[in-house]
Amino acid sequence: MNYLNEDIDSLNEKLAQGTLSADKLAQDTVENIKKTDEKLNAWITVQEDAKPDEDLDFANNKLAGIPIAIKDNIITKDVKTTAASHILDNYIPVYDATVIDRLKKAHVTFVGKTNMDEFAMGSSTEHSYFGATHNPWDFDKVPGGSSGGSAAAVAAGQVVAALGSDTGGSIRQPSAFNGIFGIKPTYGRVSRWGLIAFASSLDEIGVMSKRAKTSAQVLNVIAGSDDHDSTLSTRAVPDFTEYIGKDVRGLRVAVVKEYMDAVDGEMHEVIQNQIDVLKDAGAIINEVSLPLTKYVVPDYYIIASSEASSNLQRFDGIRYGYRAEDAKNLLDVYVKSRSEGFGEEVQRRILLGSFALSAGSYDRFFRQASKVRTLICNNFDKIFADNDVIVGPTTTTPAFNIGSEISDPIKMYNNDILTISANLAGIPAASVPAGLVDGMPVGLQVMAKRFDEGSIFQVADFIERNNKFYEKTPAGMED
Ligand code: GLN
Repeated sequence: MNYLNEDIDSLNEKLAQGTLSADKLAQDTVENIKKTDEKLNAWITVQEDAKPDEDLDFANNKLAGIPIAIKDNIITKDVKTTAASHILDNYIPVYDATVIDRLKKAHVTFVGKTNMDEFAMGSSTEHSYFGATHNPWDFDKVPGGSSGGSAAAVAAGQVVAALGSDTGGSIRQPSAFNGIFGIKPTYGRVSRWGLIAFASSLDEIGVMSKRAKTSAQVLNVIAGSDDHDSTLSTRAVPDFTEYIGKDVRGLRVAVVKEYMDAVDGEMHEVIQNQIDVLKDAGAIINEVSLPLTKYVVPDYYIIASSEASSNLQRFDGIRYGYRAEDAKNLLDVYVKSRSEGFGEEVQRRILLGSFALSAGSYDRFFRQASKVRTLICNNFDKIFADNDVIVGPTTTTPAFNIGSEISDPIKMYNNDILTISANLAGIPAASVPAGLVDGMPVGLQVMAKRFDEGSIFQVADFIERNNKFYEKTPAGMED
């Protein structure tokens, strides 16, 4: 069994009627992953003994017994959690992340951990100690990153939903490249307790699925205040599924000039068509400008790398995971373990970040970058004073070939030019499938005010009902 044509509602119906048992669902899921993952490599760990909880109440709990994938930088008690790094390749956590704890209380079935760029640093899932993940639409293409394993697993029908993390675009860019929906909630909406930290002022956990409603159902469960995470808002969490099935009449939709200028040809056409669909349905379209877009990539890489250099100090060969052999003294333990344990991209970020924070550079780099960040936030506030949502392309191109950007870090970094701003401003943002360009999916990005994920679900669901992209099967998955 695969889930190419399923969602949480359709599976729940079968479970509630008794035409499918949760045990069989779990077994089938694992078998299908094992069968299809040879070509995809979307998983780092498959829980072959995956077992649903007992006495599930399918009538009152839609998530009961539903297999869900978890990105491998989210801590799972007793299940190996590697962040796709050699330095953690044997790490078995002794506690659960808050999001896992909440999904456990909702009785989902855990089937394993998905592949990613090491420590979530990358845009292609090629920076994984466990090898690259392949795009189910074309195995020669990247699935995007860093949540490429989660995206490929959903697109390939291995699961109906997956958790990912997004620091600069890692949920939205792979969602766009795989033709699925993926949402990064507002900063402060979902607890990061138990998310292996990359850049703490930007990191967010979010959800990926074929249908927007599926993500709304999962977000309902994982969102909301948590004593373990002091950056979390205590405000009430709405029922996000209430935004599904609405129309968009009167909704004020801002289209970012710089984002539209960043795409051309067929890609521009596909995105424009989706905007026209909103307009035809009565949405009010306003052109707006985010003039600082040209600075967001350097701005983000200074801030994210600085925070990463600090967060990753804890991996010292003493407390967690890999320790190098033949160290002559304590310093040697640190240096050797970190040199052998971290991959090249992670080391590059640590160097960049340590430099940006160093005495002579702090004012010139980190402080300046923080000021630019504030200007970007102000820019969004101004737009949202007159608009409900912002739309535009999620990426500048469809998925690229495996191997084509890996040796050019700047090119790889530029992949995030359209997604990074939402992280810098802490606003919620999602990617919803817009159409195909040369046989590969592209995404429409939808952003909203802080804590207004609801409007994003409303627009995404509307777009999705209109273009019915979810009915398409990735080329590599057709038998
Ligand atoms: N691609 C970006 C980076 O490499 C964003 C990654 C992410 O969102 N985790 O930093």
